[in-house]
Amino acid sequence: MSNGKIYLVGFGPGAQEHMSYRARAAIAEADVVIGYSTYIKLVQELLDGKEVIRKGMTEELDRCTEAHEHARQGKIVALISSGDIGVYGMAGPTYEVLLASGWRPGEGIEVEVVPGATALSACAALVGAPLTHDFCSISLSDLLTPWPAIARRLEAAARADFVVALYNPKSGRRTGQIVEAQRILLRHRTPDTPVAVVKSAYRKKQSIQMTRLAQMADCEIGMLTTVLIGNSSTFMQDGLMITPRGYANKYQPSGEVKDGEQAGRSLSHGLDGWKMDVRERLARGESPEAIARHFDLPLTEIESVMKEEPAHV
Ligand code: SAH
Repeated sequence: MSNGKIYLVGFGPGAQEHMSYRARAAIAEADVVIGYSTYIKLVQELLDGKEVIRKGMTEELDRCTEAHEHARQGKIVALISSGDIGVYGMAGPTYEVLLASGWRPGEGIEVEVVPGATALSACAALVGAPLTHDFCSISLSDLLTPWPAIARRLEAAARADFVVALYNPKSGRRTGQIVEAQRILLRHRTPDTPVAVVKSAYRKKQSIQMTRLAQMADCEIGMLTTVLIGNSSTFMQDGLMITPRGYANKYQPSGEVKDGEQAGRSLSHGLDGWKMDVRERLARGESPEAIARHFDLPLTEIESVMKEEPAHV
């Protein structure tokens, strides 16, 4: 009997044209397709002649075990999920089930993860360019993650000025999490921080609400919503949400390089430059504590600059 194969397929946000060629080919090659019933509906036209196993929301581990069972019989199985299956998806649990059963990579059943456009990319594309600088995603689901861990991540992301994408922001039973998230974010961001609330991106019931952090929790938010919260430079103009790349730190509006900066080189406050500033401040008599406060960095960062020999440029 030949070895089976498990494709872990992320098919993107929903619409056919946003599915990758590889995702389509994997589903076409599969003998068995397993997925949450809503996902199965989204790829219905690719399923003719295949064994289709529909699972409910709470049967996640069943889906992994079932994929394993069928692959053990030598079949090609596609376990499908929306977005990217490795982002809050079934890729992790499937590998865990396989490893726990004694499976090892390169032996027996072959496994291939097929990446897809995750919800944050899809939702960002619909509202402009909110993720053009550092961002992070945080799931507000406390079904498997303790709230203090979620709160700590929200606090850290807000403090570090990341653009934040919130997955699983709200459901019928989980309505307080988005309110708490708003409260934590407001400790570090202004109430008028741009926010995009995107529901069912690239699906029939797509809806977009452009709002501000102070009003975020009042928006209509559900299970299929992703919330994108800007950083301190994100702006909203003509219905677009945009996070600048940082060109304004280096260039004049005319296109000329600003005084003290060089094209193609780190900023004057890049890795070496900021240390020079620290040394100048120390030489002027500023305390390490005051410098740490100025840069909003731990004191240990200032102390390690103090220990270093100045770089010779
Ligand atoms: N693997 C998926 C995420 C699963 S977690 C991915 O990579 O996109 C489920 C959460 O994803 C939802 O609560 C919602 O926050 C987000 N999501 C998934 N599909 C979406 C869509 N089409 N539009 C908006 N948000 C979506």
